[in-house]
Amino acid sequence: KIKIGQGKIEFKRISFAYKGKNKILKEVSFVIEPGQKVAIVGKSGSGKSTLAKLLFRFYDVDSGEILIDGQNIQTLNQHSVQSVIGVVPQDTVMFNESIYYNIAYGKQDTNQHEVEKVAKLSFIDTFINKLPQGYDTLVGERGLKLSGGEKQRLAIARVLLKNPPILIFDEATSALDSYSEKMVQKSLKILSSKHTILVIAHRLSTIIDSNKIIVLGDGKVQESGTHAKL
Ligand code: ATP
Ligand code: MG
Repeated sequence: KIKIGQGKIEFKRISFAYKGKNKILKEVSFVIEPGQKVAIVGKSGSGKSTLAKLLFRFYDVDSGEILIDGQNIQTLNQHSVQSVIGVVPQDTVMFNESIYYNIAYGKQDTNQHEVEKVAKLSFIDTFINKLPQGYDTLVGERGLKLSGGEKQRLAIARVLLKNPPILIFDEATSALDSYSEKMVQKSLKILSSKHTILVIAHRLSTIIDSNKIIVLGDGKVQESGTHAKL
């Protein structure tokens, strides 16, 4: 059973290839201290999302160790690793159900009060409250009735309901409207005081206020440091 303290993350010489393919990560090492917000940047296809999936134990590493609070995640069961990590994916899956359903998805016991609380924290509550049917509004097939930014904020709300010590935020590649972008940044900032955050960044605004930036390229950490230093 996993005993999670504050959510320190260590990648120790991680190598990984998808079955039958070339290595994507070659001895990648880095540390994220508890409560830090660390940004991963790199070209499309450099392995950023793959790295996040390895931390979530969606795939197992070929060699090296990933430690959470000093525990090798290979020695823990997949379910308990996943219970301490919340993922906001690059493209969030939405169901053609109500907004309430989509925020509460994956959480067994919740209620209106809790759902509204996380909606506030992800700055999506104002949008929802303006809708004639509020939390009962259907989002459409795959969330088609929502903008990319609204979807992303709903995805943040969904993860917050779970409230795990570690958050992985795989920033949307597609452009968000400027209001959404601001609000996503704002909620990330609030969250970073209580969570360890690994953010896969596509925007300068996300990168600037990170504690550390890791540049991934050719399967390796090319550079790492603060924005000022790089
Ligand atoms: P982007 O910035 O476009 O999101 P990324 O850095 O997140 O890119 P990854 O999604 O980690 O890149 O993919 C890294 C490489 O692995 C790519 O060449 C991709 O085609 C390949 N890849 C990703 N997922 C799989 C998979 N399930 N099976 C095989 N190859 C995959
Ligand atoms: Mg990606």
